[in-house]
Amino acid sequence: MPVSENFLDLGGQTALVTGASSGIGAGIALLLGRAGANVVVNYRKSKEGADAVVSELSERGCTATAIQADVSKEEDVVRLFEETRAAFGTIHVLIANAGVQQDAPAHEMSLDQWRKVLDVNLTGQFLCCREAIREFRRRGMVPETCPALGKIVSISSVHQFIPWAGRVNYAASKGGIMLMMQSLAQEYAHEKIRVNGIAPGAIKTAINKESWEDPKAEKDLLGLIPYGRVGEPDDIAKAALWLASDASDYVTGETIVVDGGMALYPAFREGG
Ligand code: NAD
Repeated sequence: MPVSENFLDLGGQTALVTGASSGIGAGIALLLGRAGANVVVNYRKSKEGADAVVSELSERGCTATAIQADVSKEEDVVRLFEETRAAFGTIHVLIANAGVQQDAPAHEMSLDQWRKVLDVNLTGQFLCCREAIREFRRRGMVPETCPALGKIVSISSVHQFIPWAGRVNYAASKGGIMLMMQSLAQEYAHEKIRVNGIAPGAIKTAINKESWEDPKAEKDLLGLIPYGRVGEPDDIAKAALWLASDASDYVTGETIVVDGGMALYPAFREGG
C-alpha cells in the first residue's frame, strides 16, 4: 500500500507532461507539481512558456525542469526520456498531452495536414507511451513510492466519439488515441501499469481561440455546453491529478469525460 495517507500526494514521484508550455499541459504540470511531483515540462518551440511554468513551480518550492522535444520525432522522444532520467532518475507518470489541429474540409485537406495531425496527436502519444513503459519496466516496482509500476494519462477529446466535420484528421487521431489507450491498458495491467484517458470538451486555450475569443462565437459554443461555461485548463488538471495519483489505483483503460455535459446531446433537452 502507498505510504501516504493523502492519496493525491505525488511526493517522491516524477511526472512528465508533454506540450506543457501552454494551455491544458501547463495547467496539469502546475497542479502535479503542487501535489509534490518532480515535473518535466516538455515543450516543442516555446522555451519562454516552459520556463514560465518551471518558474511558477520553483516559486512554490516545487521541483521542475523544462526539456525541449518534438513528440512526433522518435529520436527526440528517446532523448526526452534520457534527459528525464538524467534529471530525476526515473519517471512514474506520463501525461501525453501535446496536440495540434489543422482544419480543412476533407476534400481540400492535404496529405501534409492529415499526416501532421496524426504524427503529433497519435504517433507522438504512441512514442511517449512506449518510452514510458520501457522506463517503468527498466526501473521495476518500488512499492514504497507507488503501488503501480507506472501511470499514463492520455489527453484525448470528446472527438474520440463525437464526429467533427472539417476536422477529419483530428477526430481520427483522437479516436485512435482511445483504442491505443485501451489496448495498452489491457496489455500492461498485469504488470501494474495503468493507462487512462481524459476527453476534454471545450477548454479555453490557444488551440480553439477562435471559438471563444469573440462574444458571438462564445455564445454559439455555450449552446453546446449544458453546464453554461467554457472549461479552464484547471478543470482538466484536477481529473489528471486523480488519474495520476494512487487514489485511482484500481482504474485502468477508462476515459473520464470532462466537458460540462457537451456529450449529453444537449439539443435533445427540448426535443427528440
Ligand atoms: P495548446 O495549443 O495550448 O497546447 C498544445 C501544446 O502541444 C502546445 O504547448 C504545443 O506547443 C504542444 N505541441 C504541439 N506539437 C508538439 C510537438 N510536436 N511536440 C511537443 N509539443 C507539441 O492547446 P490545448 O488545448 O492545451 O491542447 C492540449 C491537448 O488537449 C491537445 O491534445 C488537444 O487536442 C487536447 N484538447 C483540447 C481541447 C480544448 O478545448 N482546448 C479539447 C479537447 C482536447
